[in-house]
Amino acid sequence: MKRHNFSAGPCILPKEVMLKASEAVLDFDNGLSILEISHRSKSFVDIMEKSRSLALELLGLEGKGYKALFLQGGASTQFLMVALNLLEKRAAYLNTGTWSDKAIQEARIYGEVLEVASSKDANFNTIPKGYTVPSDYDYFHCTSNNTIFGTQMKSFPKCNIPMVCDMSSDIFSRKLDYSQFDLIYAGAQKNIGPAGATLVVVREDILGKVSRKIPSIMDYKMQISKDSMFNTPPVFSIYTSMLNMEWLKDLGGISAIEKENNKKAQLIYSEIDLNPLFNGYAKNEDRSKMNATFTLTNQKLKETFETMLDEEGINGLNGHRSVGGYRASMYNAMPLESVGVLVDIMSDLERKA
Ligand code: PMP
Repeated sequence: MKRHNFSAGPCILPKEVMLKASEAVLDFDNGLSILEISHRSKSFVDIMEKSRSLALELLGLEGKGYKALFLQGGASTQFLMVALNLLEKRAAYLNTGTWSDKAIQEARIYGEVLEVASSKDANFNTIPKGYTVPSDYDYFHCTSNNTIFGTQMKSFPKCNIPMVCDMSSDIFSRKLDYSQFDLIYAGAQKNIGPAGATLVVVREDILGKVSRKIPSIMDYKMQISKDSMFNTPPVFSIYTSMLNMEWLKDLGGISAIEKENNKKAQLIYSEIDLNPLFNGYAKNEDRSKMNATFTLTNQKLKETFETMLDEEGINGLNGHRSVGGYRASMYNAMPLESVGVLVDIMSDLERKA
């Protein structure tokens, strides 16, 4: 049976990327597996360089003073690494959900944190508006897409302090002026590749301004000086990420995939809005194009709906426990056709009810 994987991450990757990655597990270089080559070998150094330059190229940040790194520890490690490297005294954070909240908790270990605005009172079903970012703080931090609640920032504030953004769940999915950010980070396991690597893109001139001693492995300047190979990097995750970035580039890059992502989002949200059996969770204007969150209006239909999902091979649709209901994650590799299968089930349910 064909499976349609709506999982929030790790998530769907393009079939051709998985095929190439699995070939490389068996034979990458004259009988050697990608899993057994040295990270210092020329073939892997080339992969690392290609991955770093592809990330900058896709974001339109080549030649603009940025460096790309592929690190370990997931986006969660960036919560503290950002603060270690940039937080001298105080930082400003926008709180739009669980992940922003966690970033704030970690930053508080290293200095004062101002929450410029929060949508916690609305259980994060919206993105705060109308706040200002003060200029006498070390940096401003926001989360572009809130994976759990299904909200997404459609615009970013004007800042005259460095702007840091957690883009774990929507990087490479939409056209933005990425040069408005000074530091972007994202765990690989959504739109980049398999879990294990974390992409960090940083403008070099914001670094080296804090007085604390930073442990070497946590120091962006050190990681840059070692070309993202301070220690053994997650070789397989980076290789597969490179294949996935090549896939995206061949497709036409971010502007091409954005058109597909818009079609998928349009399809599911119009069903949620038209079908009386479903309610959208996020406020309309803040709806995420990566993660659509919704609930059933009549709990008596839960079993029938979930049986129908199983019968059609829909996987990973359960909502996060803090929201309940359902979450359809539609990352770059998700075909429009799979969203169509889900929408057909939703409208069949209405006919049956
Ligand atoms: N930020 C966001 C927006 C996320 O969605 C996630 C995980 N899903 C994280 C941070 C944490 O990422 P990791 O598991 O790579 O530490």
